[in-house]
Amino acid sequence: MVDFIGIERIQALVAGRGAARFIEELAGEIEADFLRWDSFDKSARHAIHSPVGVIELMPASDGRLYAFKYVNGHPKNTSVGLLTVTAFGVLADVSTGYPLLLSELTLTTALRTAATSALAARRMARPNSRVLAMIGNGAQSEFQIIAFHHMLGIREVRLFDTDAAATDKLEGNLALLRLAGLRVVRCVSTAEAVAGADIITTVTADKRNATILAPHMIRPGMHLNALGGDCPGKTELHREILARPDARVVVEFEPQSRIEGEIQQMPADFAVTELTRVLSGAAPGRLHADEVTIFDSVGFALEDFSALRYLLRVHQEERGLKHQVDLVPELDDPKNLFALLVPKPREVTARAGAHA
Ligand code: NAD
Repeated sequence: MVDFIGIERIQALVAGRGAARFIEELAGEIEADFLRWDSFDKSARHAIHSPVGVIELMPASDGRLYAFKYVNGHPKNTSVGLLTVTAFGVLADVSTGYPLLLSELTLTTALRTAATSALAARRMARPNSRVLAMIGNGAQSEFQIIAFHHMLGIREVRLFDTDAAATDKLEGNLALLRLAGLRVVRCVSTAEAVAGADIITTVTADKRNATILAPHMIRPGMHLNALGGDCPGKTELHREILARPDARVVVEFEPQSRIEGEIQQMPADFAVTELTRVLSGAAPGRLHADEVTIFDSVGFALEDFSALRYLLRVHQEERGLKHQVDLVPELDDPKNLFALLVPKPREVTARAGAHA
């Protein structure tokens, strides 16, 4: 039997800890794995594009465990009542190749993206950052706000989305969450939302080179957490923002980010730093208070590897048979796979009876 985490199970696991603690623990796992960067077999993800979206496979292994995620990105899906991003994944034992866990990763992607964003921002944003602008109020947005409130001490969040219903939904969820001391400000434009912000998260979905943030909106000292540009031809920042002499750009895995990130707009020798070096202290996340720091995030397989391993651990603290699936045959003789298709004596008798 293979351990299984479906939607009901992940809801219970997150509820048991609370989303903020869940994200913080996940951030600890992700950071620990980024700190042993060289132990991993890494590759840019495999993407198949269509005119309306992308389907991607994201593998990673440390030689002991192997993980992959299947994930899609279809910005127009919400207009027909479907999510933009859905995902599931597997964690496997490298020594046998057997899967250990089959898990939903749609909610988990939102949780691990929030955890990674907050990890990067802890090293890159000014330590006294208190105001967060959230541009894009869709599926990922609550998770981001919970992480930045809990892990960075954000005290004001400024919301903007071109779809007013998305902001209604986010405001409603924030009212239910009652995050201590958090002031929620609804804005009528991106320019209004980012005015006075210390940190800007862009998490919009549109399959084009959009200009969500224009150069005049950016002030010295801001930290940009740019999440929505994560495919060739799909970006959110005007290239002049990246080209600012005072900008410092951090990416997850450079070969993948050159293809998918905001930096796809820049020449191949444009200087970036990988997150692992910032987390280990080998490179600064920020040198001075006036720098514009940019976390150009696309989502990397290592984050899902860490998430799957963490999920398996919390899942196994308490699990029952109903949280397992019979994905792999269990045989007395592993060379006799065909035994699974040979009718058992009782079935033969029953069939003979049916024909009588
Ligand atoms: P979603 O469709 O639920 O929400 C996106 C929101 O962006 C929508 O509410 C839409 O109205 C809004 N939007 C579109 N254009 C806008 C504009 N010009 N200004 C303001 N708002 C605008 O999608 P989601 O699941 O929240 O994901 C958002 C994006 O983040 C997607 O592009 C997805 O691929 C990306 N993503 C990145 C990571 C990562 O690790 N970097 C992880 C998950 C999702």
